[in-house]
Amino acid sequence: MLKNILSYNDCAQCKYCCVFTADEMRYVPKFPTLLKERVCKDWGGAAAFVPCQCEEDLWDIVLQPQADGLLHCPLCHPSKGCGLGADKPVECAAWPFSIALKNKKMVFCLEHSCPPVNRIKDKPQVQQFAVEQVAAPLHEWALRYPHILRNYDAQNKILLTYD
Ligand code: SF4
Ligand code: SF4
Repeated sequence: MLKNILSYNDCAQCKYCCVFTADEMRYVPKFPTLLKERVCKDWGGAAAFVPCQCEEDLWDIVLQPQADGLLHCPLCHPSKGCGLGADKPVECAAWPFSIALKNKKMVFCLEHSCPPVNRIKDKPQVQQFAVEQVAAPLHEWALRYPHILRNYDAQNKILLTYD
């Protein structure tokens, strides 16, 4: 979540990108080993991980079933949102911007499923900021871990096609 685009309050009330259905397991946040070890140390038994199926050196956090029938990231506080602050996995930190594959090219997108996204859609300067500040770290992440890339969802707005 980008602090200068979305407020903590937006995310604490929404939590959409920290909660999953059983068929959304491919979206589970992926942690590099160093970050996973730091979280294990800081959070003790509250957070557990399993090796990611698609990339070595990445770990999937084990989600927790809740009374709402959904699977929650254990690092998501019920009223405060993500407990990692600025130290999130790259894809979590970039949301509601994401990277995907379209016709074998990587594209940088604005996700349609983030509820306050309509505030961003009409703000070219915010989109420009995202292209300048967020597109590069996501690209580096995807180049390092190419198997994490998903196919482009046509509902998302493409802001940049990478070379
Ligand atoms: S979907 Fe958007 S508003 Fe909701 S928690 Fe994620 S980044 Fe925040
Ligand atoms: S790590 Fe933080 S932002 Fe990412 S899914 Fe978990 S609670 Fe949400």
